[in-house]
Amino acid sequence: MLIAVDQSAHLTNALQAKRQTDYFCPGCMAPVTLKRGTVTIAHFAHCPGRACTTFSEGETAEHLLGKRQLATWFENSGYQVQLEAPLAQLHQRPDILVQAPHQAPLAIEFQCSPLSNQRLWERTAGYRQHGYRVLWLLGRPYHKGVRTHGKALKFLQNSSNWGYFVLLWDVQTNTGALNYHLMSLDCEPLMHQVLRLDPTQVIVNQVLAMQPPLRAVSTIAYHFQHYQRNLLMGRLRQQGYQRDLQNFCYQHGGTLQLLPDWVVPMVAKPPLLSVPYLVWYLHLFITLRAQSEWIADAQLHDLCWQTLRPLLARNACIRHRGMVNTTLITDVINELTAQQVLVATATGWQLNLAQLRWKKR
Ligand SMILES: [Zn+2]
Repeated sequence: MLIAVDQSAHLTNALQAKRQTDYFCPGCMAPVTLKRGTVTIAHFAHCPGRACTTFSEGETAEHLLGKRQLATWFENSGYQVQLEAPLAQLHQRPDILVQAPHQAPLAIEFQCSPLSNQRLWERTAGYRQHGYRVLWLLGRPYHKGVRTHGKALKFLQNSSNWGYFVLLWDVQTNTGALNYHLMSLDCEPLMHQVLRLDPTQVIVNQVLAMQPPLRAVSTIAYHFQHYQRNLLMGRLRQQGYQRDLQNFCYQHGGTLQLLPDWVVPMVAKPPLLSVPYLVWYLHLFITLRAQSEWIADAQLHDLCWQTLRPLLARNACIRHRGMVNTTLITDVINELTAQQVLVATATGWQLNLAQLRWKKR
């Protein structure tokens, strides 16, 4: 931890702390020792073996240094900054709490260690329920494999300026990397764009206001669809999805190879599912086949939602979840219309049975 309390209950930064003075953990009030040297980042530590529920011991040098770097950047950007601020009503203590005039307070979490989905969910929801915005920045252990659905993806966030993004922070260079407009095409590495963030060049507000142009969503050209389909089937096999999907097809009288073309997604989508989008489309195909020739609009939306819901990944940090899900459903309905699986009528939807058959062997 970077902040401790002294005997008169004053919060003291390890940089300014005096030696030969008693300091205590602001979480559990146990005595802590000042660690400060030429190599170590100035911080306080509990006595070995002491269990503390607020601060995990073995806080890494990366975490301590990152907190300082980020605090400095926000401070230089005109924010009011509190390190390890206790938020009593939440029993949470963000790494850094920052506030600019006329803005909701923003909790900054610099995550370098493993964090369970459950804890991530609780912490993010806790902040938001109490009116704090929250931004997760990820340390080195999360930097590998962002595009291959690595551990960083569970911290996926969204904003109107940046689309779907994850933010990485590198303490060695004191710079960040905004990985934004992350999009997924089944079984391929994620598509993304990267923006380097250098605190010596930009202030925080410039970054937050930045609206980098989002590249158009990639669509596989029609004449590549056959190629893409074979590629996807190969990848599904490698990734171990194929047997279950093939069995699912058998149960409904077909095979993966006999799926109509529209079931194999050819448009990049937000990386929000725990499985390839093909799985959702396959379930839509099977469910639509079981409907009568005409369905009401509400029924179509419900059917899309019922097939989508079990496949959604547990993304704790996504904002406006309801709206995000609605967009996914609207997009799929637009695609099904474009592919002439659905035809809009005055009062609902006509199903095109020709698009709801297995291909001929
Ligand atoms: Zn403690």
